[in-house]
Amino acid sequence: MLEKSNRHLRLKNVHGKNVCVVREVYRREDIPCLSKLCLGQCNEQCPEGSSLLPENVTHYVIPDPQTAREYLEIFENPHIQGIIFTQTAVQSIQHGGSRRLYNRLKAVVKDRRKGSVIFHNEFQTYAHCEREPGEKQAQWHVRATYKAAEWYFNHLAASIPVVMVTDEDQFVYDFGHKTRNLFVVKLRDYLDGFWSEIIPGITDLFTSLQEVSVHKTKDTDYVGYLPLEILSKGIKCGKYQQGFLQVNKSNASQEAFIRRTKVDLTEDSGSDILIPGMAARNRAIHGDLVVVEILPKSQWQSRSNTISNPASEEKGDGDKAVSDRADTMPTGKIVGILQRNWREYVACFSQDEETGRGDKKAGKLLVIPWDYRIPKIRISTRQVDALRDHRIIVRIDSWEPDSTYPNGHFVRSLGKIGDLEAEVAAILVENDLRVPPFSEAQLNELPQDTTQNPWKMSEEEVSSRRDLRDSHLIFSIDPKGCEDVDDTLSVKRLDNGNLELGVHIADVTHFVAPNSLTDIEAQSRSTTVYLADRRYDMLPGVLSANLCSLVSGVDRYAVSVIWELSPSYEVVDVWYGRTVIRSQYKLFYELAQAMHEGIIDAEIVRNIPELHDLWGEELEIRLQGLREAIDELMAVARGLKARRVKSGALELESVEVQVQLSETKSIENLNPKQHLEIHDTIAECMIFANHWVAKKIAEMFPNQALLRHHPLPKDEQFGNLRSCASSRGFNIETSSNKQLAESLDRCVDANDPVVNKLLRSLATQAMSNAAYFCTGCLPRDQFFHYGLALDAYTHFTSPIRRYADVIVHRQLLEAVKKDRTISLPTCTQLEDLSQHINKKHRSSQYAQRESQELFQCLYFRGRGTEDENCIVDAVIFQLRTNGLFVFVPRYGIKGPVYLKSKDGQVLYVTATDEAEWTSGDVTKHDTYCVVDSTLGQQKYCLLQHITVKLSLQDSWAHASSLRLELLSNKPHKKPLTDMEDVAKQQKASIIQEVSSEAVEKRLQLESYDLGENFLQLKHKYGQSEDSMYHLFTSFKQTALNCDT
Ligand SMILES: [Zn+2]
Repeated sequence: MLEKSNRHLRLKNVHGKNVCVVREVYRREDIPCLSKLCLGQCNEQCPEGSSLLPENVTHYVIPDPQTAREYLEIFENPHIQGIIFTQTAVQSIQHGGSRRLYNRLKAVVKDRRKGSVIFHNEFQTYAHCEREPGEKQAQWHVRATYKAAEWYFNHLAASIPVVMVTDEDQFVYDFGHKTRNLFVVKLRDYLDGFWSEIIPGITDLFTSLQEVSVHKTKDTDYVGYLPLEILSKGIKCGKYQQGFLQVNKSNASQEAFIRRTKVDLTEDSGSDILIPGMAARNRAIHGDLVVVEILPKSQWQSRSNTISNPASEEKGDGDKAVSDRADTMPTGKIVGILQRNWREYVACFSQDEETGRGDKKAGKLLVIPWDYRIPKIRISTRQVDALRDHRIIVRIDSWEPDSTYPNGHFVRSLGKIGDLEAEVAAILVENDLRVPPFSEAQLNELPQDTTQNPWKMSEEEVSSRRDLRDSHLIFSIDPKGCEDVDDTLSVKRLDNGNLELGVHIADVTHFVAPNSLTDIEAQSRSTTVYLADRRYDMLPGVLSANLCSLVSGVDRYAVSVIWELSPSYEVVDVWYGRTVIRSQYKLFYELAQAMHEGIIDAEIVRNIPELHDLWGEELEIRLQGLREAIDELMAVARGLKARRVKSGALELESVEVQVQLSETKSIENLNPKQHLEIHDTIAECMIFANHWVAKKIAEMFPNQALLRHHPLPKDEQFGNLRSCASSRGFNIETSSNKQLAESLDRCVDANDPVVNKLLRSLATQAMSNAAYFCTGCLPRDQFFHYGLALDAYTHFTSPIRRYADVIVHRQLLEAVKKDRTISLPTCTQLEDLSQHINKKHRSSQYAQRESQELFQCLYFRGRGTEDENCIVDAVIFQLRTNGLFVFVPRYGIKGPVYLKSKDGQVLYVTATDEAEWTSGDVTKHDTYCVVDSTLGQQKYCLLQHITVKLSLQDSWAHASSLRLELLSNKPHKKPLTDMEDVAKQQKASIIQEVSSEAVEKRLQLESYDLGENFLQLKHKYGQSEDSMYHLFTSFKQTALNCDT
């Protein structure tokens, strides 16, 4: 039944004038409640995949329009679920608030983990509330909200308490206790009553938002910029350029660039645009999507060519193309903002009380963001004394045209500055990584596997799969102590003389249905995050460490790729599909390598628990069978690899350290990971599987397959590598991957093994990153993987720890099915998803690196200047007009060494080997630079060894870093017998030493603050730091070798 009425809206038109619009409203009885508790027919009308109010929360909450508008951030908290936003509230945000706020509200409703909905109360016959003549809007809003709350309460037959939140005292007084289990409360009381114990800091956030709302300014997001129409016209006709603002971390107040956004992926995006100074930046913040007007050529400037503090061009997302010329470049100013990309920022108050006071009159204080690229933010808080030595999270609310700093508010504290947990939390927040324990609702979707109630395979499921349990010898080879085995292998001779190779991967998608809560969570995380001392899983432990871990002796579901190969390793046939397997051996690398080398003795048998109950002839036969399989596998991999190398695959430098675990999971030892042929064997089989899966899905879904490509590097990016190589008389050929690989192989200095390693690492740095993409969005000739020399590649072999593999599994299984049942994501959806995954992968790599740097700094804290661990050999790999960039092989660290100070003094090393500051100048040439001083002239060449001193450059507001100071222009005199092993062991001992301290600290912390229950919970959800040493921690200088 429809009922018509008119709704009067007051809107602002484009010129800012108020206009009144009359809209016809049709009311219906069947506007759905969107609750899982509904006993009626509502849910028949729900669009598929949309959020529903959950059945397992303690109550539903309905904020009134004002509360929703001013405190939306509180309702964004992942803990608060079952929120009903009335249409009245949404419209109030849409028309009265800002675009950004409205988008955030939409994001809350879209996130199915939040179980929150928009209820179209004004269209609902029984829930709408007519505004009375002369009634104030605020009053009508409150009444309308109550009417909706009342409707819900009755519609759901009082089966769940409903809480309405408002700030109107009188209303709370009148209606607060009118109906049992239908509450009307003030937000402060609601938070105190329900959430303050569950969400630490939520009341602080409330207080801080309350202060913001008192000094509330209008939505000034886009004030002081050109109107949108003019901007879009300008962009269309080429007058303006659009792109993301990238602030130079080491020169944040002076230098920023616009990386132009590509209109289409194939088009060259053109060069960067320089935005010099804060005035030209016009209140844009790093990451914003902005519109730029390019200035006349006469006003173009050049980018700075010096190293400055923090000199970190080697890290972060700084520009990779290090142009070393002082040429001018397109220079512009910002005239408009298309999209604010503000996020939560880690910050702290100034250490210096006086300067930290800021604008006291207005009750406001300045905080310094951790990220150098973000300007100071003005916030108001009464808790400054309690928070003075804390890392806190702040958010920016506005940046008014006449203000030097943006305004923001305090969100929560991460803990005391310098405390390991606070510093790690800061790294996670800064990289936008959210890794809360898995929720109960997520865990409830997954099968249980307990001693009382062990998980079993279903017979029906088994009969639908190819059963390899009795027909194939399947085994896994991983690092020692590995718990989550996601890949296994098999190899056997066929009667026709051909060979059958099998790669069997955990069938994660059997357990994780598309759009389930577990799936949404995994997608949002996209990857397991490995930090230097801990790990955050992408999937709950019941899957990653149990049901999807292909350990030996148990039945497991798998997805297999099985090839029939000719004796010359040509693929004769390939089969893809779901299987049932039972791995017979869980081996580790060193063991498999030893067996291959013919060592079969008591020690080997002792390390294969699967053989412990056997002896005599049976043992002999089993050992022989296993050994033959390993030999065969290595031979196949050798053949496959030879073919790839022939077509130009690159071998790049990668240093890894492996953590060895004791029974109790504490670190027993950190072993430099010795490179064995068996590592290559396993990697090669995985690459082979990934390649063949890529071929299959790209063929079946030419426009919607998820692949991974590694683009051709740009030639100019090799400039520094070429200069370095030429300083030793080597020549680098970059015209193809094959030539690059071969020329790198030739760069060998028998007396200086660091040279080859360093050059390979520079080559890696010069490369673009490999990335996921959707096949419909890129021309076919750009699918290739440059580093691996393959025409198609994807990720299939690690669905436990990478979400891309989960998608690829679904696509592969769909591709081999006869009848299509599930609908795959569209091309656009898949492209968005691949961007998201790429972003999360990058973030987790940055976080990993930053956590390693944190540990390095903790290691050097408190070491005296005379400590022999602080004086090291370093190799020059880049020249600047005021210094050098060096590589320290012993610790694998790269950083700047200054030769010239800010006040123009230069460093001269005297005959007695002492570095002295004196007046002079530095001149930079192609492969060397010269210090001209009153004391004499000295030359520094690329790849020259020098001696530097390492010390901690402690920072209050930012991440601490290591300072490198020149001690001598000669190599450090230390026996260089086996440099690399020393380097690896040093790195290993850093983590070991620092983390044992940190673990102690943490244990104290937990026993004080968190209690035993928390420990148990963490353990149960597989996110305990106890499992942090799980697997191994690797220091990777390249992700290429490991792109399997
Ligand atoms: Zn209903």
